[in-house]
Amino acid sequence: CGIIGVLGDHEAAPILVEALKRLEYRGYDSAGIATVNGGKLDRRRAVGKLVNLSDLLVHEPLPGKAGIGHTRWATHGAPNVGNAHPHKAGPVAVVHNGIIENFRELRDELATHGLKAETETDTEVVALLAQHYLSETGNPKAAAQATLARLEGAFALCFLFDDQEDLLICARKGSPLAIGYGKGEMFVGSDAIALAPLTNRIAYLEEGDHAVITRAGAQVFDAEGNQTNRDIKVIEIGN
Ligand code: GLU
Repeated sequence: CGIIGVLGDHEAAPILVEALKRLEYRGYDSAGIATVNGGKLDRRRAVGKLVNLSDLLVHEPLPGKAGIGHTRWATHGAPNVGNAHPHKAGPVAVVHNGIIENFRELRDELATHGLKAETETDTEVVALLAQHYLSETGNPKAAAQATLARLEGAFALCFLFDDQEDLLICARKGSPLAIGYGKGEMFVGSDAIALAPLTNRIAYLEEGDHAVITRAGAQVFDAEGNQTNRDIKVIEIGN
């Protein structure tokens, strides 16, 4: 339902949780964040209000300056912790808005590679596919692109990887996503309100776009896979 991503200068967890609070107005049943720290992905997830996630983080902090977060409005699978985002498969974590229409076929195919789904969600196949293609290519960008090529449905996605503390890969197809440009920091959000206090320089992805983001900037690719530019707009949102 709500997506946030951060490649920051500071600890990501508080920034992610604050951004998720700004997305609360959209409604949600559970929430979670993942960071990569010391090369390793880790995540915290909780059902119900964001205060439950905040409380969990007090007891089990999540260090790291690169991270992704999500408020979930379940479409496939009960609203429980196991189905909450971020989903993780080996070295890949992902947050997702929308629906992957062909997830059952993909899940069956992945099972033949020994990659078994552990949740009831449509989202988990995205992480499993990326894990599969990462093991084939050894390259997160190639793995994400191969994954995106397999997905049918309406979605916004943001990927985070083990060993990649300066990389977010995100995609938009049928569900909005914006890139926020900071000073040596970069952000991703499912709407400008999530990004408003972090930066006012925002580029909206267009339908079918995906972006490879580092702290130095973003490379945006259109639906045909050609590198393109999306205008950075200076927005004013009262906060
Ligand atoms: N279809 C996904 C799920 O049920 C994402 C739902 C959402 O947009 O929050 O987990």
